Amino acid sequence: MRLILLGPPGAGKGTQAQRLIAKYGIVQLSTGDMLRAAVAAGTPVGLKAKAIMERGELVPDAVVVAIIADRIDQKDAKPGFVLDGFPRTVAQAEALDRLLAERGLKLDAVIELKVDEEALLKRIETRVWQMLERGEKVRADDNPEVLKGRLAAYRTQTAPLAFYYASKGLHRMVDGMAAIDEVTAAIDRLLAKAVEKAAGKAKRAAAKPQPRKRGKTAKKAPKSASKGASKSGSKSASRRAKKAGRPAGAKRRKAGRKNGRPVRARRNSSSRRRLTKAR
Ligand code: ADP
Repeated sequence: MRLILLGPPGAGKGTQAQRLIAKYGIVQLSTGDMLRAAVAAGTPVGLKAKAIMERGELVPDAVVVAIIADRIDQKDAKPGFVLDGFPRTVAQAEALDRLLAERGLKLDAVIELKVDEEALLKRIETRVWQMLERGEKVRADDNPEVLKGRLAAYRTQTAPLAFYYASKGLHRMVDGMAAIDEVTAAIDRLLAKAVEKAAGKAKRAAAKPQPRKRGKTAKKAPKSASKGASKSGSKSASRRAKKAGRPAGAKRRKAGRKNGRPVRARRNSSSRRRLTKAR
């Protein structure tokens, strides 16, 4: 099972991802968590990302794509994964498509948690209080000012992914304002359908008679026949040139019109010289 959870900050992606990994035996790949770990460890990626994250902006695509490429190749990600916080831009989504295609893998679904922004601000405020009460360190970007920036980044850069995945028939929507268990149940129902659909597709593909392979003697169509015919270097073009007394590869002179009457194109100096000699 390979999934993407889409939704603005505070939509509940992390909570639902935890439930999904327990149910399907897959791993959660959160670029936010990975970047925070890199910042804490002071790695080169962490040093690059720290200030950007504190401003609530997006880390460069190349950085997160490299992190994800590395992570999906690890053994524990083989049974599947739920991506949380990635992709966040169309460029990242395209990079993910390439990564998966190179590995012969496919996404099963992209689930968007739909929530309203007012509620998000309240949710994050509550999250901060709960963390403080537990004596945990609060995220540097969990404050109202930065949160506004994170929401704006989501609206402009990430929300268009809903259309991107809808065009691929993968996008599904769940009401993220419902109670946590209800959201989980809605995701379960969607995934059951997606799995059923994929199984049906695989069954139909297996039942479909395979087209017979051509025998060895069968004639192949010439490679890029249409392209070759228009090139001056092609056989027919050089034959035409020979007939017209032009060196192969030379362009045909074009006749033009003057005062509405057709006129022959002027010969260039070298062909004029050749003609004078011959006379
Ligand atoms: P959020 O709660 O805002 O969804 P995350 O934990 O997913 O937070 O990410 C925190 C920060 O990490 C983001 O605001 C951004 O700076 C950076 N980040 C995480 N994932 C990505 C990504 N895929 N592309 C760019 N930046 C990212």
